[in-house]
Amino acid sequence: MLLDFRAGDDLPPADLIIIGAGAAGLTLARELADTDLRVLILEAGARDLDKGLLGHEAPGLPYRGATSVGRIKAFGGSTLSWAGQSLEISKNVYGPRPWIRDADWPIGPEDVEPYYGRALKAMNVPDLQIADSPWADGWPEFDQDQLSMTASMWSAQPNLAEEHEPWLSNSRNVHCAIGAAVVRINIGARAESVVVRTLEGREVTVEAERIVVCSGGIEAPRLLLASGLGDPLPWTGKGFHDHVSIICAEIIPNDRKEFDEIFQNWYSDGGKLMPKLLLSAEKQEAEKLVEVGGHMVFGASGGFEALKGLRKAKSIKDATPFAGQALKSLPEAAAAAVAAGIKGRSYAPANSKIEFEALCEQSPHNGSEVRLSNRKDEFGMPLPIIDFKIGDETQKSITVLMQTVSEQLKGLAEIRIYEDRLSSQQEFHRWAGDIYHPMGATRMSANPEDGVVDKNLQVHGVDNLFVASTSCFPSGGWSNPTYAMLALVCRLADQIKK
Ligand SMILES: Cc1cc2nc3c(=O)[nH]c(=O)nc-3n(C[C@H](O)[C@H](O)[C@H](O)COP(=O)(O)OP(=O)(O)OC[C@H]3O[C@@H](n4cnc5c(N)ncnc54)[C@H](O)[C@@H]3O)c2cc1C
Repeated sequence: MLLDFRAGDDLPPADLIIIGAGAAGLTLARELADTDLRVLILEAGARDLDKGLLGHEAPGLPYRGATSVGRIKAFGGSTLSWAGQSLEISKNVYGPRPWIRDADWPIGPEDVEPYYGRALKAMNVPDLQIADSPWADGWPEFDQDQLSMTASMWSAQPNLAEEHEPWLSNSRNVHCAIGAAVVRINIGARAESVVVRTLEGREVTVEAERIVVCSGGIEAPRLLLASGLGDPLPWTGKGFHDHVSIICAEIIPNDRKEFDEIFQNWYSDGGKLMPKLLLSAEKQEAEKLVEVGGHMVFGASGGFEALKGLRKAKSIKDATPFAGQALKSLPEAAAAAVAAGIKGRSYAPANSKIEFEALCEQSPHNGSEVRLSNRKDEFGMPLPIIDFKIGDETQKSITVLMQTVSEQLKGLAEIRIYEDRLSSQQEFHRWAGDIYHPMGATRMSANPEDGVVDKNLQVHGVDNLFVASTSCFPSGGWSNPTYAMLALVCRLADQIKK
């Protein structure tokens, strides 16, 4: 049942408290629906997007993930803002990678991959197979020791608030209270209770047998720090990283039609596959690099965007501006309709620009950190200081990637690297930035000296407190992180059920 703590609803007794109703919290709750557990989700935000309450200090580089686009306080969390792109974590990323300090995971692919099926369902990603795709006969043949091709999978329905509200409203054992911000977890030998507050000053303390923090990659470390875990677990807030993205080359295809056939997205069952290039694990190891890859960015087509808008519109009012746009660029819209409708491909006009966007892992020792400020937010909670840095490992890895892409795509295209953007640290920092994937600040480790949670996501030394978030990733590879995070959530759900 959905409750509104701000409107005066009381919080029911619970065996398990989940803090946060984003992808992690909602997926965990649904996994536990219809069990004997009384589950209470405490969500700080309201039913709709609330752009307030996002104060922070940023002494380092600008961090987009901390802004109102990246740090969403609402039922559904960041899924109100994302598009639901998913990629498996590469096997080599789990480690050992001795050339990247503290990057190894205490678990391996065998602990995550069995849960990918449930994670895909939780994200509404259709199970699209390469065998059924335009690439069924294979990708271009690159030297596998240098570069490989793969495809990311995209959600058919990324807004998880819409997905979860109906079942939650009727649930027998799961309650979700919106407007209920947890400002502290009272921790002794165990996590005893949580303090819940509203903006208007209503405050209640709630106890539960188990508490799972699902408040996101920044708010999870912030809440643990505010609850006093920074001293016993000094990694709390440290090891913070994201993916660094930069548009770093123009691509001039030899044969534009052939190039588009290879690199344009493929749509099916409401989802899509996006072709990607990845620097091989062998090359990463040989050159001591972090994981790095990227994809083509085709110049926008007004006609194709209009078609996409028309497809998603839920009312005539929503559809009207897109219909107008389609009419204005009729020949393009017709070409896009043929590409999309007949072949299921995305479309860009033949003379549109193509660029390459690199996506790069950061080392856990890139210098970034989440700390607490002396200043407080509207709930009386210390503001987070999000000190985002970009280390030299990303610039080096992206430079090698681009040289490799240039060599391997010979015959298909000329790669005009934007050398100025990669030439100095200052220029690189001007053009590069995060992509809203906060990870690492409550990292997973075998021992308390090396991290914050153990391999079962339990906070070291506190046997009934768990964190389920991308903040548990010791390292992130190049993959969009929510897929593996939700696999870990499903794994945690199974442990709780046992
Ligand atoms: C623009 C954008 C695009 C993205 N694209 C992708 C993508 O394509 N693929 C991908 O894998 N990832 C993507 N991401 C990242 C992805 O959205 C997150 O990894 C994922 O949604 C995290 O889910 P979560 O539940 O852990 O955290 P969140 O979505 O942050 O949810 C946490 C919830 O907890 C609540 N909360 C926070 N603090 C408290 C508190 N103290 N008390 C109570 N409640 C609290 C928040 O209000 C929020 O609802 C994108 C993110 C953005 C912003």
